[in-house]
Amino acid sequence: VWQAVRNISKGRVFDEHFLMSVSTIGAFVIGEYPEAVAVMLFYQVGEFFQSLAVEHSRKSISDLMDIKPEYANLKTKDGIEVLDPSDVKVGDIVIAKKGEKIPLDGIVVKGTGSLDTASLTGETKTQDVKKDDQVLSGSIVLDGLLEIKVTEKYENSTVSKILELVENATDKKAKTETFVNKAAKIYTPIVLGIAALVAIFLPLISNVEYLTENGSIYRALIFLVISCPCAIAISVPLCYFSGIGKSSKEGILIKGSDYLDGIKDIKEIVFDKTGTLTKGQFTIDKVEVYGQLTKEQVLEYAVLGESYSNHPIAKSIIKKSNMEKYIAEHKEKVSSYEELVGKGIKYNFEGKVVLVGNSSLVEKEKEKSDSTKIYVKVDSEIVGAICLKDEIKHGTKAAIAKLNARGIITKMFTGDNTEIAEKIAKELGIKEVKSEMLPNEKYQELEKEIAKYENNGKVAFVGDGINDSPVLAEADIGASMGLNGQDLAIETSDIVIMDGKLSSFNKAINVSKRTKKIIMQNIYFALGIKAIVLVLGAFGISTMWEAVFADVGVTFITVLNSLRIFKK
Ligand code: ADP
Ligand code: MG
Repeated sequence: VWQAVRNISKGRVFDEHFLMSVSTIGAFVIGEYPEAVAVMLFYQVGEFFQSLAVEHSRKSISDLMDIKPEYANLKTKDGIEVLDPSDVKVGDIVIAKKGEKIPLDGIVVKGTGSLDTASLTGETKTQDVKKDDQVLSGSIVLDGLLEIKVTEKYENSTVSKILELVENATDKKAKTETFVNKAAKIYTPIVLGIAALVAIFLPLISNVEYLTENGSIYRALIFLVISCPCAIAISVPLCYFSGIGKSSKEGILIKGSDYLDGIKDIKEIVFDKTGTLTKGQFTIDKVEVYGQLTKEQVLEYAVLGESYSNHPIAKSIIKKSNMEKYIAEHKEKVSSYEELVGKGIKYNFEGKVVLVGNSSLVEKEKEKSDSTKIYVKVDSEIVGAICLKDEIKHGTKAAIAKLNARGIITKMFTGDNTEIAEKIAKELGIKEVKSEMLPNEKYQELEKEIAKYENNGKVAFVGDGINDSPVLAEADIGASMGLNGQDLAIETSDIVIMDGKLSSFNKAINVSKRTKKIIMQNIYFALGIKAIVLVLGAFGISTMWEAVFADVGVTFITVLNSLRIFKK
C-alpha cells in the first residue's frame, strides 16, 4: 500500500501495487478477511520467489559467461603471491599456469602457451602465444606457462570492460519495455473501469447481489487481482537480459536492450571496407618509383611517417617493410606530424614536407589500379608509390549471402579507390558501393540512408572504428569489429563483434528474433491465462485464491520461458 501511495505521489497512479491495494482494501470492506490477507500475503510471497528466480537467473547467466578471473599470481622476489586481480599494478609480472585464467591484459615476457579465447570472442579456436605477444584477460591457458607483464589495470582490462558492458546493457530500456509501460498506463484505468462496471451493474442485470459472498464486488476484486501485469513486467526485462547474455557468449557484445530489439528490424547494412570486409592486413605488392629515388628510399619516407599512425595501412607497411631499425634511428627527426583522415599523413623531415597517402592527398589525378596505391610526395615531387593488396576476411562472403537472403540491403562505403571497392563488392555480392569517400561524406551519406527508412526499419553500420567512429555513432545500430579496434570505436558503437567475423552478425539477428519471439510468447500466455481466470471469475466460478495463484504461477512460467533464450 505504501508503495502504491509513493508511486501515486510520483505520478504513477495505476500500477500493480495500486491494483493489489484496491483489491485488499475492498476485500476488507466487504468482510472477506481471509481473502484480503491472501491477496497481500501471496503477492508478497510471490514477489519474493520471483526476485529470487530473477536474481538466480541473472547470476547463472553471468556465471555461464564465466570470464571473471578470481585471482592473479603475482611474481615477487621470493616466489608467487596470490592477489585479487584489482590489486595488481601496471608493470607487475603475473604468472599464468595451465588451466588458469589470464587475470589482466598484458604482454608475454617469458614462456609460450596456447590460449582459449572462446569467452572473449565466442569462437572455439586456440591462440598460440610467445614472448612479446599481447594477451587479453579472460582467456584461459590451455597449455604452457606464461609470465605476463601487466599493461592495463584490472578496471581497464578487457574482462572488466566486457562485464561492465553486459551488466549495464540492461539499464537502457528497450522500446518494448516502454511499450509495456505505456500500455500499462491505458491498461490499468480500463481494468479499473471494467471492475467498477462489474461491481455496479452486475446485480442490476442478474440475480447476483452486491455484498454477499461471491457477490458483484467480490468478483470485481478478483478481476483486479487477475489484471495485475506482474508476469509481463518481470519477464520482459529478463528476456532482454537473457538475450544479451546469450549474445555475449557468442562473442557479440550488445550494449542495451533497445539495440538487441532493434537488430531484428535492420533493413540495410552499410559496411566499411578496410578491416571490416577485408583483413586490413595489407601486403606490399610492389613499389613504384617515378624520380631519382630508389625503392628503398621511397619506403623509408613512407615508414618514417606511418610509424606514428594507427591506420591499418600504416601498420601493414611497417610490418611488411622490415625497417624497424631505420625507423628507430630516424623517428626523432620527424616533426609536425599530422593525420589527414581518409587521405593519409603529412610530416616534416630534414626540412622537407613529406606526404604519404592517396591521390587526393598528393593532388594527382586518379589512375586506374587494382591495388591500394599509397603515394609518397616529398616537397612538390611525387617520388613513388607503394601498391598494397588486402584480402577478404574468411567467411565474409557467406555471411553477406545470408544477409542478402534475409532481404537485408547491403552497401559498402569506403575511402579506397573505385576499382578495388567495386571488385570486392562484386566478389562479395554487395549491391551498392560508394568509394573514395572522406569520413564526413560517409557520415552525410549514412544520414540519407537513415532518413529513407524513417521509422520503418533500421540502418546498421559495420566498421572497424578507424576513421569511422562518427558514422558508428550515427547509425541506428553501429557495430564495430573486434576488440582490437580502437577504444573509441568500442565506446561509440552499440554492438561489438569481438571476433571481427561478419557471421556473428547473423547470429545476433537470430538472438534478437528469438528474444522477441519469447517476449511475445510470454505476453500472449500471460494475457491468455488471465483472460480465462477472468471469465471464470466473472461467472463466479473462480475465487480470489485461484486469482492469486494464477498470477504468481503465470509469472513463474514466463520467467522460466525467458531463460530458454539463453539455454539454446
Ligand atoms: P576505409 O573506408 O577503406 O576504411 P579510410 O577512410 O580509413 O578507408 O582511408 C581512406 C584512404 O585514405 C585509404 O584507402 C588510403 O588511401 C588513405 N589513407 C588513410 N590513412 C592513411 C595512412 N595512414 N597512410 C596512407 N594512406 C592513408
Ligand atoms: Mg576504415
